[in-house]
Parts: sequence; C-alpha cells; structure tokens
Amino acid sequence: MPDNSVFQEFYLREIGVQTPLALHEASEPVTERDILSPSDEKPVMVSSEDMVSVPSVDQVSSRGDSLQEIAMQASSCRACALSEQRQKVVFGVGNPNADIVFIGEAPGHEEDLNGEPFVGRAGHLLDRMLLSQGMDRSQVYIMNTVKCRPPNNRDPKPEEVQACGKWFDAQLRALSPKLICLLGRVAAQTVLETDAPLSAMRGKWHEYHGIPLRVMYHPAYLLRSPQQKRHVWHDLCELQKRYQLLLA
Ligand code: URA
Repeated sequence: MPDNSVFQEFYLREIGVQTPLALHEASEPVTERDILSPSDEKPVMVSSEDMVSVPSVDQVSSRGDSLQEIAMQASSCRACALSEQRQKVVFGVGNPNADIVFIGEAPGHEEDLNGEPFVGRAGHLLDRMLLSQGMDRSQVYIMNTVKCRPPNNRDPKPEEVQACGKWFDAQLRALSPKLICLLGRVAAQTVLETDAPLSAMRGKWHEYHGIPLRVMYHPAYLLRSPQQKRHVWHDLCELQKRYQLLLA
C-alpha cells in the first residue's frame, strides 16, 4: 500500500490547499487558476497498481453489457421535460466493474454537449481528487442522479429525479459497487432522501442498500470555496482506508 503522506502532499499541492504541508515545497501560493490552467491539464499520473483491484475479463464484459444495454434504453428516454432541451443523455463513464462509484447531481452545459459526466471545470478538479488517491476515470465509475441537463443548471425537480430513478436504480444494480461517494448536497439529499445540510452528512459513513457510502463537497463548490478542500482530503482518505479494508 502506498505511503499515505506522499499522496497527501501530492493532493494538497494539486488542489491548492494552503497548509504548511502544501507550502512545504512551494513558495508561491497555488491558486484555483493554477489548478485549472491549460498547461496543467495533463497531470502526472500516480502509479495505482496496488490501490485498485483489477477486474476479470468476464466480469467486465457482463457488467459492461448490462450497462450498455441500460444506456441504450436511456438514450431515448422521454420520461420528463428535461428530455426536450437536452443535447445528449449523460449516462455515466468509467470502468463497468469499478469498486467505487462517484455520483454527482446532474449534467451541466459541457456535459450536455459531450455526453460525459464531469468534463467541465469541476470535472478537472474531480480528476485531480481521484489522482490524489492513485485513481483515474478508467478505474472508477462516474455518474449523476439525473441524466439530462436541467435548464440553467438549476437543481433537478422532484418529478425529474423520480422519472430518472429507474435508470439510476438499474445502473447502480448493474454496477454493484463496493463503495459509493456522493458529490454535493443535491446528490446526497436525493440518494439519502433527506433534507440535511451537507455539513451534517459529510465526515461519516452512511449506507445505501447495504453499500457503504460517503458524502463529499461537490468539486464545483470547492472551486468557489477552496478552504473546504481540507475536508475533502479527509473524506478521500477515509474512502481509501475503507476500500483497502474491503480488499484485505
Ligand atoms: N456537476 C455534476 O453534478 N455532474 C456533472 O456531470 C457535472 C457537474
């Protein structure tokens, strides 16, 4: 198992948390702009061989086939009004046999155009959060509670969440992950069916149909409130610890 402090230092530097650890090598403060600058867009990969279990070919193909079938059906969904304005249904991305699934709220503008979740600025930060734990998009699975973009990025309405529920349920059943990570208040309130504020949901373990679940601040929120990144670091470490226990 990799030395956690190495990843911690890497993460703190990558996401720009201003702590003595992060500043240890850098005399200039790292800003949000630095994190997202074009020259930074191809981050150095951390070897993850001992962090993520490798799926067998059979597992990949059967889960992959089910997911593909569900995605195909969802691509023509007209169950709610969001389908009228969407460019693309944003189903999910990543490894069909991933042990860890990250779930956001709903696609934004970039995602709607590309058909892939978390490809905008928040997505870049999510990539860096994954990287800090030795992971990338090919090793986890990333999806949203709602598959079509709400106009002007408003929160999805209850009827839209409900209409999308059948895709969400089928997708999670097919994935059958070992751990779930909910990104942001809206995803957390939707999946956990609560009105609790995010601050009350993060920092502890929940369960969803028997699957251990962690709530974290949404990367888009972290871009606006970088001082919260330290909490996300803590939550990512807890996720990684639990994952290692599951693999042991
Ligand atoms: N925010 C989300 O919650 N999901 C996305 O796919 C993009 C931004």
